[in-house]
Amino acid sequence: MQTPVKKNQHLILTIEDLTYEGMGLAKVDGYPLFIAGALPGEKIEAVVVKTRKNFGYARALKYLTKSPDRVEDNQQQAGITPLGHLKYAAQLNFKRNQIQQLLKKAHLDQIEVEPVLGMDDPYHYRNKAQVPVRKINGRLEVGFYRKGSHHFMSLKHFSIQDKRIDEILQTVLNILNQFNLSAYDEQTGKGLIRHLMVRRGYYSHEAMVVIVTNGESFPHGDKIAEMIMNSQKDVQSVIQNVNNRQTNVILGQKDKVLAGKSTITDELNGLKFEISAHSFYQVNPQQTEKLYQQAIRKAGLTGNETVIDAYCGIGTISLTMAKHAKKVYGVEIVPEAIEDAKRNASLNNLTNVDFEVGNAEEWMAKWSQQGIKPDVIMVDPPRKGLTSSLIESACEMQPKKVVYVSCNPATLVRDIQTFIEHGYYVTQPIQPVDQFPQTPHVESVTVLEKR
Ligand code: SAH
Repeated sequence: MQTPVKKNQHLILTIEDLTYEGMGLAKVDGYPLFIAGALPGEKIEAVVVKTRKNFGYARALKYLTKSPDRVEDNQQQAGITPLGHLKYAAQLNFKRNQIQQLLKKAHLDQIEVEPVLGMDDPYHYRNKAQVPVRKINGRLEVGFYRKGSHHFMSLKHFSIQDKRIDEILQTVLNILNQFNLSAYDEQTGKGLIRHLMVRRGYYSHEAMVVIVTNGESFPHGDKIAEMIMNSQKDVQSVIQNVNNRQTNVILGQKDKVLAGKSTITDELNGLKFEISAHSFYQVNPQQTEKLYQQAIRKAGLTGNETVIDAYCGIGTISLTMAKHAKKVYGVEIVPEAIEDAKRNASLNNLTNVDFEVGNAEEWMAKWSQQGIKPDVIMVDPPRKGLTSSLIESACEMQPKKVVYVSCNPATLVRDIQTFIEHGYYVTQPIQPVDQFPQTPHVESVTVLEKR
């Protein structure tokens, strides 16, 4: 294998671009090298750490020049905030530019992209922490693994999660440390405490603590839960989750309520939602409200419409839309999420919503056969985007509008091309909303209408 650079070679590099993952990109004789933490325009001294046939990785040793867009962030958090070294305004431009570049490549640059709706304070926004627990010098600690490594870094202050969650994590650790409990070891699959998960309602301030254990037996579990509840008045729920599989999936199947309730409640756009340990719930509540408001405004609801929400999760978008539409049909593949969605509908006294468990494509076909004619189809798919057969089924129903909430611009642009083949076209500028400040994730709302 002949590459222009060799492992351990020292080089002077000029960074040309930032990849969609937020890595600096430099080229040596056309051979791309990716450098974490480096920004466009910067000149660095670097060492090559890995070479593949068509690309390699290098590590910055010294910054010879620095970008005016650089902020000196806490590099300790690099695993959690891969864009933390870039000024927030530049992060927002980077995200908008990513969508624009992908549209351009697809010869769709006539489609406009609005500036990204960002946060005034782009830190401490996460309403959920999910952190590994390891034993350091005889003490249980939380932290994170450096990207692509097995090197655990302990951490007390996480820059992007709710500060109260950081406090709760430390209190829970202090209590756990009064008992002689072991921490899980990835290598051997032995040891008890694997992860801590804490969720906190943005409006309700109710908190849930989930202690993930390797196996069912949890010595002093009830006592520990009681100590947490008694000392932290906002904690309404302490749950033991059992995960005894050797996997990097955080939660196991089995939950045991150790103290308090099995769910906490929070609000989004004035609606109440019950959230259980396993529920998918958007992690940035302030921006989620903005995102949903955009989706509703763009759908142009007047109260007379029939709406399909094709990837409805626990029904957050469906229920928000139900207040502005005649009838909403939601479908979601995870049965537990639909149980939550139904509960949330009655919690909010909304009776004009039907929720079904299953594959979005199959349900669209069934609804079509039942003679349901949606005015608006709402889609909010996972990163892999839509299948072309889903797009086909959606277009066959001839909705006036399709509102596409996307968390991945690459699949969004691919799917827009398929919609165009079926006679639908983007009629308003795409509106990105920053759901994940300090990270490279790009979320956006697109409206498609029949030509
Ligand atoms: N709109 C919700 C959830 C979006 S996440 C919210 O904002 O909270 C995407 C959801 O699509 C997930 O809940 C996932 O379980 C679901 N999903 C994935 N594939 C699906 C399919 N083929 N049919 C229906 N739902 C699917």
